[in-house]
Amino acid sequence: KHVTIYCITPTYWRYVQKAELIRVLQTLTLASYKTNIQWIVIEDSEQKTELVKNLLKRIDMQDHFKYVHLNAKTPPFQKLKGKDPRWKKHRGVEQRNAALKWIRDNVNPHGTKKIAFFMDDDNTYDVKLFEEIAKVRNVGVWPVGLVGGLNLETPVLDPKTGKVAGYKSGWKPDRAFAIDMAGFGINIDLILTKPEAVFSYRMERGFQESQFLSYFTTKEQLEPLADNCTKVYVWHTRTEKPDVKGTVPGFEV
Ligand code: UDP
Ligand code: MN
Repeated sequence: KHVTIYCITPTYWRYVQKAELIRVLQTLTLASYKTNIQWIVIEDSEQKTELVKNLLKRIDMQDHFKYVHLNAKTPPFQKLKGKDPRWKKHRGVEQRNAALKWIRDNVNPHGTKKIAFFMDDDNTYDVKLFEEIAKVRNVGVWPVGLVGGLNLETPVLDPKTGKVAGYKSGWKPDRAFAIDMAGFGINIDLILTKPEAVFSYRMERGFQESQFLSYFTTKEQLEPLADNCTKVYVWHTRTEKPDVKGTVPGFEV
């Protein structure tokens, strides 16, 4: 295992939280057979919750991979209101920045290769994705299924050079990097050498990924993975909000 993948997972309380985190935990357990995994879980809350603490204890017992538990609450004025459409506000900004800070404060730049991957709690990940992330040298990219109003979004390669020439994306494919959060991996050395690179509420909505990547690389330098961007190993799935009409006391669900 010559590489460690730092998986950055923002999470917040709703009925499906535990189910989502179990799916991610089990995916990482499988992935950890082939690569070292460091899971960074950042709760969108004022305090770390028992639910997430208890879930992470399972990793202590199994000892498959490492984790760190952080919390960073989204300021109330940035938070979605009940009836707001999902695109109205940024999500995960505070939490991803807390993870970047933790990385900059704690990760030693020397030694084996380290790659960061933004691993939202509700997506669906093929274990094969982690073998692709392990191949990243600086910034690697791959297709993401079921996103942006298309069956998939993907970088488009120039057939002559094999390099990224553009993007197929349902929304603003002319962005510098029309890539979903789940569609790239980045070497931690780059994150350490550019401390000013963070996510921001001032970024135009839908431009978080593009602006973040602009700190580190250019379209021409992107490394296409997943068989030259011909395979889909991650899906931007979204879990339906369950219609909970009552609660049975005494259970953690
Ligand atoms: N998230 C969060 N606080 C929120 C909303 C979302 O921490 O108030 C997390 C969420 O758990 C996920 C990531 O931020 O890991 C992206 O959110 P979501 O999946 O809702 O965004 P979308 O996939 O719709 O862009
Ligand atoms: Mn999501």
